[in-house]
Amino acid sequence: MGTIISLTLFQNRPQVVTTVYQYLVDAEKKFSANNDNSEIMRINQSAGIRPVSVSPAVFDLIKRAVMYSKKFPNSFNVAIGPLVKLWDIGFSGQRVPSATEIRQKLKAVAITGIELNESQLQVYLKYPGMAIDLGAIAKGYFADQIAFQLKRWGIKDAIIDLGGNVVTLGHNQLAKNSDWQIGIQDPKKTRGEILGKVQLPACSAVTSGIGERNFKVRDKFYHHIISPRTGYPVENDVAQVTIFSPSSIQGEVLATVAFFAGITAGQQLVKQMPNVAAIFVTRAGEIKLTSDLNFKKIA
Ligand code: ADP
Repeated sequence: MGTIISLTLFQNRPQVVTTVYQYLVDAEKKFSANNDNSEIMRINQSAGIRPVSVSPAVFDLIKRAVMYSKKFPNSFNVAIGPLVKLWDIGFSGQRVPSATEIRQKLKAVAITGIELNESQLQVYLKYPGMAIDLGAIAKGYFADQIAFQLKRWGIKDAIIDLGGNVVTLGHNQLAKNSDWQIGIQDPKKTRGEILGKVQLPACSAVTSGIGERNFKVRDKFYHHIISPRTGYPVENDVAQVTIFSPSSIQGEVLATVAFFAGITAGQQLVKQMPNVAAIFVTRAGEIKLTSDLNFKKIA
């Protein structure tokens, strides 16, 4: 998944770690947009040709992603694949495409082109050139699934960290007051260098930002969150947003949607949602909180 994943338990249950590891290996095989044999790749390669039968998990995640794409049509879009591939940001082919190329690909990101057949568990991309990309939602889904399984196996306290997607369960066994501390990445620095920490009961924390996958051409900065309306990376005042929420899939989608909304509208959006909070970092480096979150800035 292009990141470092870790699972922290406070009980000696090595079999649980092995099972979660195997779950993620299988998930990557099924869901990857870069592996020729994944179910997602088969769907994309069959665009405009034929419906593809998929496993229940793949169908379930695509169905949810389509639902969110319809709810937030100008920002979150699971059919963004053709534009993501065109820019290829963070990979060896990254470049600034021509306006004509972008215009052509914009035609292939219509969410109405995804046809779902629930009784047959089939997914059909109606037009050639369409492609599903689950990069902004899959890790949230996996984190929720892992949290659910851990609880079923009697694990009370845990940290699931899928690189930018953290879910904490139960209580922090390392601290007296038992809340968890979560570091907030400094978007201008390398991974692990934090701006500050929040202290919260068990929840999901998802971060999206322009800090890691980006490039510059003639002083112009491009990053990997792409507008389905313009075909270009979103240009606004947000450098990074972290969403705290009960579920990680919800946090993933909201991180993208809040990113598009910008600092002011993004904060308003989050404040309207029950049990959700956010930390925005502006491009100028300011930190904006939607609630207290026991945030402690690193001096
Ligand atoms: P990461 O966890 O890799 O930082 P994010 O959760 O911020 O990623 O999602 C960014 C990824 O989502 C991109 O690399 C791309 O695969 C995909 N993506 C880019 N733009 C959009 C969009 N408008 N809607 C949905 N997915 C997107």
